[in-house]
Amino acid sequence: MNALGQEIAALIALEGPLTLERYMALCLQHPRYGYYLRRDPFGAGGDFVTAPEISQMFGELIGLWMTEAFALAGRPRGARFVELGPGRGALMADALRAARVAPEFLSAIEVDLVETSPRLRERQAQALANAVPKISWRDSFSDVPRGPLFIVANEFFDALPARHFVRTPEGWREQLVGLGETGALRFGLAPGIEPALHVEAEEGSIIEVNGAAQRLMTEIAGRLARDGGVMLVIDYGYTQTSLGESLQAVAKHAYVDPLENPGEADLTTHVDFAALSRAAAAAGAKAFGPTTQGEFLHQLGIQRRAETLSRRATPEQRAEIDAALRRLTGTGDEREVMGELFKALAIAHPALPKPPGF
Ligand code: SAH
Repeated sequence: MNALGQEIAALIALEGPLTLERYMALCLQHPRYGYYLRRDPFGAGGDFVTAPEISQMFGELIGLWMTEAFALAGRPRGARFVELGPGRGALMADALRAARVAPEFLSAIEVDLVETSPRLRERQAQALANAVPKISWRDSFSDVPRGPLFIVANEFFDALPARHFVRTPEGWREQLVGLGETGALRFGLAPGIEPALHVEAEEGSIIEVNGAAQRLMTEIAGRLARDGGVMLVIDYGYTQTSLGESLQAVAKHAYVDPLENPGEADLTTHVDFAALSRAAAAAGAKAFGPTTQGEFLHQLGIQRRAETLSRRATPEQRAEIDAALRRLTGTGDEREVMGELFKALAIAHPALPKPPGF
């Protein structure tokens, strides 16, 4: 077992089995061994590839979307352009470059990057070395100063920890991470039933609850409803809350056992967009979508952007642009193309008119 595994095993021996939420939080955010704190997971040599890393078109279109959202909101004073989990900073760099067509946006905003990883903060600072607006890093969304907020979160909500409940004859019991007879980590069930869960389902059914995502959405939507602005969420997930679980562990572009080598794989769940919309509405904000990433990018004109880029490109570059377009917007095998599995959702101040793409 690796060092984090030993630390988790010691914790379980002391305090008893952990909820999946606690286990995921330790794997991803442990200050010494956490997945995001220890490594740069992106790219061909890493564990996974995200849309902004596939093509500059993704961040550019989002940058233009933000300038339009800013105009729709009436170009408010004191506005902030916020990114949650900026990774290597590619999306923000592409977005700010594209936003040069709207100087009134660039001169009005300050940028806030919400990022826990010191290593990724460094990458972001490099990627944004020539950026014009003032940039500040924040440990959590709560630290972003007040003001109308224009927020983007790409592949961020999937990284927030979730809980699982399993239907047994007696009722719903929480799935926990405990120790097996050999001392290895293994899944088990809490002894007590969950009195607050009343969903009827067959024995063996699983409910996945992403409490962390819903709490964060409640906080953000409350700020948007009070101070104005909009948040664009793009992630893989589903549009209707349903039974079943979607925990996955990915390392080196392959699925691995989530309990083996904790902290060395990206642990995520699919995003429940319906639950996010409900949390936002309850906090006084308005939701647009979700729509699929493919539809969203097409509506924003990705085809035209690809054609413009292709005009000045070599044949090899043209093939790359075509491949990126297919990967970002295509439908079919979800391991190859993102167009359908990924969704876009906008959460806004209730007075904001419908933004582009929805
Ligand atoms: N948006 C980027 C990166 C996605 S990966 C892209 O599309 O390429 C998730 C990002 O969120 C990483 O930058 C990770 O360090 C950060 N992150 C994960 N959990 C976080 C948390 N709880 N608080 C702040 N940042 C977090």
